[in-house]
Amino acid sequence: MLTPCLLALCLSIVTIDTPDERLEGALAASDAFLAKARAELDTISLAIWQDAELSLAESTSSERLASWLEKNGFEVARGVAGLQTAFQATWQQGDGGPTIGLLVEYDALPGLSQQAISRQQPRADTDNGHGCGHNLLGVGAAAAAVAARHAMEATGMAGRLEVFGCPAEERGIGKVFMARQGLFDHLDAALHWHPGDRNVVSDQVWLALNSVKFRFRGRSAHAAANPDAGRSALDAVEIMNVAVNYLREHVPETSRIHYVVTNGGKAPNVVPDLAEVWYFIRAPRRDQVEDIYRRVVQCAQAGALATETEVEIALQTALHDILPNTVLGDVLFRHLDRVGAPEYDDSSEKLAREIAETLPAASERALAHQVHRILQAPVFPASTDVGDVSYCVPTAGLQTATWTPGTPYHSWQAVAQSGSPHGLIAMHAAARALAGCTLELLVSPEVLNLAKVELRERTGGRPYRCGVPDDVPLADVLDR
Ligand SMILES: [Zn+2]
Repeated sequence: MLTPCLLALCLSIVTIDTPDERLEGALAASDAFLAKARAELDTISLAIWQDAELSLAESTSSERLASWLEKNGFEVARGVAGLQTAFQATWQQGDGGPTIGLLVEYDALPGLSQQAISRQQPRADTDNGHGCGHNLLGVGAAAAAVAARHAMEATGMAGRLEVFGCPAEERGIGKVFMARQGLFDHLDAALHWHPGDRNVVSDQVWLALNSVKFRFRGRSAHAAANPDAGRSALDAVEIMNVAVNYLREHVPETSRIHYVVTNGGKAPNVVPDLAEVWYFIRAPRRDQVEDIYRRVVQCAQAGALATETEVEIALQTALHDILPNTVLGDVLFRHLDRVGAPEYDDSSEKLAREIAETLPAASERALAHQVHRILQAPVFPASTDVGDVSYCVPTAGLQTATWTPGTPYHSWQAVAQSGSPHGLIAMHAAARALAGCTLELLVSPEVLNLAKVELRERTGGRPYRCGVPDDVPLADVLDR
């Protein structure tokens, strides 16, 4: 006969789930929460789409997400890393367990005002638009965290969830300065997603970037009567640009250098005493950007030397390339595959097809219905501040088809679809996959260890060093 004590022990053994069963239960709870919250999430996303607030002015959008997370049990610290519209929301259960971070963005773009319709038509109330779909991005990632919280409660999983409200992605500022302050260092992994035209987890590299303004100061004079007394700041800009254009031949082919003259003087009859040129320098690796940057600075100094002007160098921001993490990407893909392609309704397909008709090179005319895992891909010629996070901790991201194939980022078509039902449908698919991956990682310490080993191998063990030096205050950067 069993003693009561032994009987209790046996009963407890029988009721313990296997790790797989526990994860299955958690995934079911997560999916159930997201299904129930669907209408509320759509409302928040469309409100942020409507806000269309620019980088560092995303106070309403940021607050919508922060207060929703708070309402759902997260503890929220606002204004982290000295950025008013940044936040860090945390929720924990039990002692120990991994810490998983989810990255959230919410800024819009200037000059992209657009209604959620299939022809180009700006809104009357704003000049801005969500041309990168960050209204979907922010809500999708925050929803994943809250869904994971519910699943953890339902199954008793231990661990910590952190949601990072990252402002000003479009200016490459938020995550760079959050990373410089070490905000991501304690994470075991970071997950993110981005709207797009495919359902994919890719190990693609994005370009590292330095954004920098060169401001030349000379001496004004009458351009006809006293040109000898003047020293032209514009001449310095032009000499610098010529030098940089010769430099192009001698940099890696995959690098990109582009500039705009933001101040070239006011009138032809005044020798300009002030001129400014703004450069973006990009390359697949951070060290390549730093080398090209050094040489571009020399071109600026050459312009100043030749014209007897002074040059001030105002670094705006510096982004790392995205460092893929295959171990983490494989787990994330498993969950994207589990969720499958978004299930669009007929009216969504119709709107997407109409928008596809407005695109110059759309070979496919419907929304994407497959999911892909891409391990080897050409470098993606754009940059994001997610790169900095990927050098701090193992990081992986996915994309779901919020837009019809061929939709360019930062276009009116992207704005329209980010405020449309098919954008929201794809946002929900992203949230489910991110939440699923988060839950699997919480019960897979060995996978997290392998992901960290991969990070160390890819960086050669070198710790993250922010491209914006510590002695450059954030206030200076925001001011120039
Ligand atoms: Zn974006």
